[in-house]
Amino acid sequence: MSAGVRGIGMTSQRTRERLIQRLQEKGIRDARVLGSLRATPRHLFVDEALASRAYEDTALPIGNGQTISQPYIVARMTEVLLATGPLENVLEIGTGSGYQTAVLAPLVRRVYTVERVQVLLDQARRRFQQLRLRNIVTKHVDGGLGLPEYAPFDGIIVTAAPAGIPRGLVEQLRPGGRMVLPVGQADEQALVAVVRTEAGYEREMLERVSFVPLLGGVC
Ligand code: SAH
Repeated sequence: MSAGVRGIGMTSQRTRERLIQRLQEKGIRDARVLGSLRATPRHLFVDEALASRAYEDTALPIGNGQTISQPYIVARMTEVLLATGPLENVLEIGTGSGYQTAVLAPLVRRVYTVERVQVLLDQARRRFQQLRLRNIVTKHVDGGLGLPEYAPFDGIIVTAAPAGIPRGLVEQLRPGGRMVLPVGQADEQALVAVVRTEAGYEREMLERVSFVPLLGGVC
């Protein structure tokens, strides 16, 4: 390994550690989630030109008008999803760079992740291979319809915002399963936690967020 390469590695380790501290200051408590963010090289999920900014707590462009989510939001959504205990199978809608998927994968048995933009999905798949994440199933489909052939899920995480809570996605949760998603238009979105109940679902508004819209049809 050249001195230059080693240098980049060490810098990234230090800046990564600072990011973890920042997430703790912002209220992320779950040690499993913090551990997974610490272990996930976010600089591999952005374009090389942006790699030096990969450990800032901000969203960054990933091409095709899409963004890699802010680390705080990835941590928060993962924490909310795992709050009730370990999960077997989780559906993620909106693979994007694959960063959220890579943070989640070590913490659950299997992640099904769907993306509508083929080039983004291809890049994400290469990153999963590079990181030897073997419990991720990727699909190039319109995620608004969920993934009924693999339902029911213990958890669903949506990383693009529908206008409202899609009923059909709630129905792909097992009873007691939970979904975390942004809901609403760009300037008035909230992060919402949904739990499927016998009668339908319960929801809790968590905080304001800003995600790209969920495109295509919703069920
Ligand atoms: N979790 C991602 C965030 C990606 S941004 C990350 O950490 O990088 C949201 C992604 O949702 C975009 O890549 C966009 O193409 C995708 N998306 C939007 N609508 C979708 C739909 N209906 N089905 C599947 N993916 C969708």
